[in-house]
Amino acid sequence: MTNDCYYDSFDKKENLHFDSKVVHGGLGCDPITGAVSFPIFQTATFRHRTFDVSTGYNYSRLQNPTRQELERTMAILEEGTEAFAFTSGQAANMCIFGLLKKGDHVILSDDIYGGTYRICSDIFSALDCEFTYLDMSDPDQLEAAIRPSTKMLFVETPTNPMMKTADISKLSQIAKKHGVLLVVDNTFLSPYFQKPITQGADIVVHSGTKYLCGHNDVIAGIVVVTTQELADHFRLQMKSRGNGLAPFDSWLVLRGLKTLSLRMERHDRNGKKVVEWLKKHPKVKKLYYAGLGGMISFEVDSVETVHRLLSDVKMILFAESLGGAETLITYPLTQTHESTPPDVREKLGINERFVRISIGIEDPEDIIADLEQAMK
Ligand SMILES: *Cc1c(COP(=O)(O)O)cnc(C)c1O
Repeated sequence: MTNDCYYDSFDKKENLHFDSKVVHGGLGCDPITGAVSFPIFQTATFRHRTFDVSTGYNYSRLQNPTRQELERTMAILEEGTEAFAFTSGQAANMCIFGLLKKGDHVILSDDIYGGTYRICSDIFSALDCEFTYLDMSDPDQLEAAIRPSTKMLFVETPTNPMMKTADISKLSQIAKKHGVLLVVDNTFLSPYFQKPITQGADIVVHSGTKYLCGHNDVIAGIVVVTTQELADHFRLQMKSRGNGLAPFDSWLVLRGLKTLSLRMERHDRNGKKVVEWLKKHPKVKKLYYAGLGGMISFEVDSVETVHRLLSDVKMILFAESLGGAETLITYPLTQTHESTPPDVREKLGINERFVRISIGIEDPEDIIADLEQAMK
């Protein structure tokens, strides 16, 4: 690409450790002024000095330096070749499914984010695309489900909200054998805990709204790719759909990323403590936890306990979403998984006694004390 002359001075920081990479990003500081906080290029368009001289930037729908800094940073963190920052995780997913042609078949994790399910069932099935939902922890079942028309494998690991995990390397072997694209939604673990591309994934997608930004103050989506062909697809999608992340929102995610390692470490430590406490609680009947990170789901003894829990939490907030500094409690039945068909929900275990918690970075004793008083 010739469109990134601002990045001519991009000096490779490959030798840095991950915790330093999140702080220093792509360019890190502004190469022109030295501003340590990467500038917010709040501009729609870019001046051309003469007929044939361009800075490499034309129009912010196509390319913007602040968005590019975020994209570079994400490509570095996920170890891909290029990244694209979209206006939401859903916008990113729409562009991924935009790879499909009429009649293509996709295999997805059975317990997948409700919005991803909705994209398949309400939008792409109308284009004669077909979707199969599978438990990805069973590679044999997966291999049997692949058809000549299978184009893509779309995986969440751990899954949302049942926290089932899959072996990305194994899935990648199967995908490669059949010439199928492997897409991994890495929202729940972030590249701090899991780098799917290093295990063979072709595309990584994130709701940047969650752990990457980490502050519950922006909606964003990220796609990281591994080939020029895929990069060209997403560049065309962004240019045509006009869904590139705005400069200020890009800056907010960049700012959030600087503390990704610190936050993930704390989410994980807090998550483990809350899991230990939940394990011993008499009203907790089932517990779902991937063994790391800050996402926990559980089933309680009765609907009354759920209602009390959701109404009586004080510090913990009853709200949809995850991955931020604040501990949030979510009711998947009516919130995140409202679009999932009732029979699928029932089969997965998403019932009226089921809740999901995104453990924040507060003092774990306060999180536990709040749950305790609300579950009395
Ligand atoms: C939130 C979420 C999305 C959708 O992202 P938005 O930023 O809300 O559009 C996709 N996948 C997962 C796993 C999510 O948690």
